[in-house]
Amino acid sequence: MAIYLCHEQPDLYEHDAVVVDARPGAVALDRSAFHPGGGGQVSDVGTIEWAGGSSRITHIEIDGDRWWHVLADDTMLPPGGVSVTVDAEHRLGVASLHTMSHVLNAFVFDEFSGALVTGAQISGDGKGRMDFDLPEVDNDRLRALEGPINDVIGRGVPVTSQYVPVTEATPESGLMRSMSVAPPPTPDGTFRVIDVEGVDRQACGGTHLSNTGQSRPIRITKVENKGRHNRRVRFQFTDPS
Ligand SMILES: [Zn+2]
Repeated sequence: MAIYLCHEQPDLYEHDAVVVDARPGAVALDRSAFHPGGGGQVSDVGTIEWAGGSSRITHIEIDGDRWWHVLADDTMLPPGGVSVTVDAEHRLGVASLHTMSHVLNAFVFDEFSGALVTGAQISGDGKGRMDFDLPEVDNDRLRALEGPINDVIGRGVPVTSQYVPVTEATPESGLMRSMSVAPPPTPDGTFRVIDVEGVDRQACGGTHLSNTGQSRPIRITKVENKGRHNRRVRFQFTDPS
């Protein structure tokens, strides 16, 4: 399952599915529009309904080919059909912060000649952070990227995805950077590449906006030194609600 349903049908938030496996507090389905997270990004959350009950899905656990939809309680689902709903607001918040982390990454990469991401985390509470390998940099220069990031939001830049052959994803192409979220190459040997038009282009399997204008404004709340080489940039929505 290297091509995610949520990538093929990004606007699919509700669908039917069939239980293929169950244990107390978790269920595996024959199909799922949930994004499983990865690379420091939280998974989608949502709800599941079956004949006789419903529960919240708190996250996805991947075990081989099986995606366990972990429930908020210890229910053991019966075999049969279910209906699942992805929490659209949660998806939008995570996709916004993650898409804007591409933009931050691009600005850092350009301004500090190829500085690489060493870690990233996007949580479900409207906050994110990225770590960069930047040994000698004035932290105010990193903070100053907040304005240009919000300019990209204000300009409403289109964000598109395409699958390109692995052979094009060479180190020189700049497509492979360390922020990428699963999945690995598809069985036919392609990578999913995300293009924030004119700003950033790189391989990534995360959830993204289709236009930067869908994001609420972002604030860089803190820049910290993490060890000798790393700077941690924390950001969140300016309006926290
Ligand atoms: Zn991405």
